[in-house]
Amino acid sequence: MTNQTFSDRDLAVLWHPCTQMKDHESFPIIPIKRGQGVWLEDFEGNHYLDAISSWWVNLFGHANPALNIALKDQLDTLEHVIFAGFTHKSAVKLAEKLIEITPEGLSRCFYADNGSSAVEVALKMSFHYWRNRGQTQKTRFITLENSYHGETLGALAVGNVPLYKDTYAPLLMDVITVPGPDCYYREPGESWAHYSSRRFSLMEQTLQQYAESVSAVIIEPLVQCAGNMRMYDPIYLKLLRTACDKYNVHLIADEIAVGFGRTGTLFACEQAEIRPDFMCLSKGLTGGYLALSAVLTTNEVYQAFYDDYQKLTAFLHSHSYTGNALACRAGLATIEIFQEQNILENNRKLSKIMGEAAARFKDHPHVAEVRQTGMIVAIEMVKDKRTWEPYPWQERRGLKVYQHALSKGVLLRPLGNVIYFMPPYIISEEELWLIADVAWEALERAVKN
Ligand SMILES: *Cc1c(COP(=O)(O)O)cnc(C)c1O
Repeated sequence: MTNQTFSDRDLAVLWHPCTQMKDHESFPIIPIKRGQGVWLEDFEGNHYLDAISSWWVNLFGHANPALNIALKDQLDTLEHVIFAGFTHKSAVKLAEKLIEITPEGLSRCFYADNGSSAVEVALKMSFHYWRNRGQTQKTRFITLENSYHGETLGALAVGNVPLYKDTYAPLLMDVITVPGPDCYYREPGESWAHYSSRRFSLMEQTLQQYAESVSAVIIEPLVQCAGNMRMYDPIYLKLLRTACDKYNVHLIADEIAVGFGRTGTLFACEQAEIRPDFMCLSKGLTGGYLALSAVLTTNEVYQAFYDDYQKLTAFLHSHSYTGNALACRAGLATIEIFQEQNILENNRKLSKIMGEAAARFKDHPHVAEVRQTGMIVAIEMVKDKRTWEPYPWQERRGLKVYQHALSKGVLLRPLGNVIYFMPPYIISEEELWLIADVAWEALERAVKN
């Protein structure tokens, strides 16, 4: 059996996410036969190092022994059950764990089945909270420039990446968009903390002006991942928490990409010592095994919905697969790995090596910046190092990086002109250096002519 057996059949019937399918006339789609640890293997025996954790979901490798054992046990016990009027052990245990490990004061867990759905839940819950409290004028949301919160219409509306959003603009609710704290734009010599706190004045002004009609501010703590891995200082989150309290507005922390150890702490919010009113989790939640998301919120929010049925204050939102037993069990097993092994400490060592491996890119004539937050390193390719003029997107330099890296056995998937490393936490030091070497070669190729 060759790769072509499945690539031809795939291209005859499938439609892939975030893909111009015509691209596959010029380069193949790769059928994966099996995964083991950080490695993927195709049907012709080629191996690919999964340097982006399969779209940021895989924390502890493919075919992880502990997760496999847990899931096999769950499979033989209960695969799924309706989650209204019924419950099960894995859903209860996972909720207990999530409440234990997330910032203090988050004491209720609502499940959904992917990141976008979690964002929809948080938006609806926030709005509905104010409504139940008689504040029906609070109907708007504030978001940051360059933010990303998913692809369903509500999530897309509170996002701000033009490539994904602009086409659907006529369908989207109106939101208030504030210039963000993205430190790529700081002055030469200016610290992240200084820039991020300086930029907060724009948020403060907006809150001052619109707070009466605003339900919540939604934010990706520390790293705007889909927005080209742009980063900022925790001080911004601290200021935002204080301001949200002052202006009586909810704070929604979308930790879908940054949660579960990605930024150096278990949750990114910890670095600002804040507790959001809603925390959205998905991606790493199941270790990259199954689709699941959770929205954590406070007792204050929960109580605003808790009343006699006839008052019609209940949150009547559901997904068929809410609280799926297999997915919850994967989540539970994932958290157990964090608690039984010294993952965060090991990540500190790994992120130090990632920083060292990426250091040489700083001097490359077509790199404007190398930045890092925990287990994320990003390399900003530019046309002109002096002016930071970007390559025109039509040139698809990132795609060239992707293709060359794949031919060398490393799966990188640049966002526009930004190459990034976001590996599973079980990666070895040698494998990190391999990623950097291949990325260097791919960059050299991509910037030619
Ligand atoms: C991926 C992502 C989402 C959307 O999650 P899906 O499971 O892809 O719907 C939302 N917010 C952030 C920050 C993300 O990175």
